[in-house]
Amino acid sequence: MQPDNSHQANHNVRQVQLPSGKVIEVVYFADRPVSHGSAVSGATTRSRRHADPDRELHLCPECGSGMVYPIDWSEADSSRWEILLRCPDCEWTETGVFSQAAVEQFDSELDRGGDALLADLQHLVHANMAEDIERFVFALQNDHVVPADF
Ligand SMILES: [Zn+2]
Repeated sequence: MQPDNSHQANHNVRQVQLPSGKVIEVVYFADRPVSHGSAVSGATTRSRRHADPDRELHLCPECGSGMVYPIDWSEADSSRWEILLRCPDCEWTETGVFSQAAVEQFDSELDRGGDALLADLQHLVHANMAEDIERFVFALQNDHVVPADF
C-alpha cells in the first residue's frame, strides 16, 4: 500500500492577491518543465512586485525617508493588509499587500512618529516660552519695564 502523492509531487500552488484585489493562482514548478500541454505551463508571477511583505513599511524604498505613512488600507485576507503608502519627502506611492507582522511593526513606528512629533512640539512651545522669559528678563535688566507698566 502506497500513499498517492502524484498530484503534489513537483509543484506548489500559491494564491497571490494583486493590489487590485484580484486573486491569482501562481504555480511554482520545482524541477521539471511541463511536458504536457497544460494551460498553466506559461504561468508566471505577472506584475509581482519586488516588495517584501515583511519589509519595514515606514522606510521609503525610493529615497530612504522614514516618514512613509498609510493613506488607505483594507484587509486583504485574515492575516494580510492591502495598504496604499505615501512618502511625503519624494511623493513615492505604492499599493502593496503586507503581512500582519509588518503592519503591526508599522503601527508602532507610526505611534513612535506621533510621539516624536508631540515631543518636538513641546520643545518648541518650551523654547518659545523660554525666549519670552529671556526677553522679559532683558527688559527688566535694562529698565525697559518700570512700575508704571503694571
Ligand atoms: Zn521617499
